[in-house]
Amino acid sequence: MRKKIVAANWKMNLTLEEGKTLVDNIIAGQPALSATKKIVIASPYVHLTQTAAQLNGKDNIHVGAQNCYSEASGAYTGEISAGMLKSAGVEYVIIGHSERREYFNETNTMLVKKTDQALNNGLEVIFCCGEPLAIRDADTQNTYVEKQIKEGLFHLSNEQLKHVVIAYEPIWAIGTGRTASSQQAQDMHNHIRNVIAAQYGQDAASYLTILYGGSCKPSNAAELFACPDVDGGLIGGASLKADEFLGIVSAMSN
Ligand code: PEP
Repeated sequence: MRKKIVAANWKMNLTLEEGKTLVDNIIAGQPALSATKKIVIASPYVHLTQTAAQLNGKDNIHVGAQNCYSEASGAYTGEISAGMLKSAGVEYVIIGHSERREYFNETNTMLVKKTDQALNNGLEVIFCCGEPLAIRDADTQNTYVEKQIKEGLFHLSNEQLKHVVIAYEPIWAIGTGRTASSQQAQDMHNHIRNVIAAQYGQDAASYLTILYGGSCKPSNAAELFACPDVDGGLIGGASLKADEFLGIVSAMSN
């Protein structure tokens, strides 16, 4: 049975103290989740050991990182390897967020290496894809996202794909307050599942968790998560406040 996940992406926000309080409040308010429903908290690098310590031994709530480097080790000043993340207690890593693709020029070739590093070090990958507004306006989003998935993930084996979650995040919906309609999300998630089925078979496609991201909040999460191919969300802004984030988690747990 495929997993449902609500993942928090804090981006470059919160001091260590603020992060600690937020995690404490999430733990305190977290609803009971069945084994296939999970929360992931992707805090900034310097928070990770603290977040991991707070979540240690807790069921169905996991620590994630927002990025890792494409090489295993060496003279890459300022970078963090997947092996370092693993040793810090990290379980999930976000790869290919649109902000990293845009501001840090991350190409699909780099993302292949990052994904391989993550999987080789036993991390679960949350692989992001999604189109800019001009592509949506031209109605070519299916081809655009399909290319991101083929170039970023199709080198993986069926076994490796079991450790990948795809997050569909239309760029025009990220941090803009403009959410994709549930029909737009469902259509793209269904397309992604078909793309995976064509390459990896129906079982792999049915097992794959596909998250929606882009201005998801408590008021729209239930409708989005009710779509048959939407298996939860990757949450930016609304993950920085415990009550808002927990409101979205509740939409998954119902
Ligand atoms: C994100 O950046 O992953 C995201 C979904 O952001 P927001 O929820 O703020 O749109």
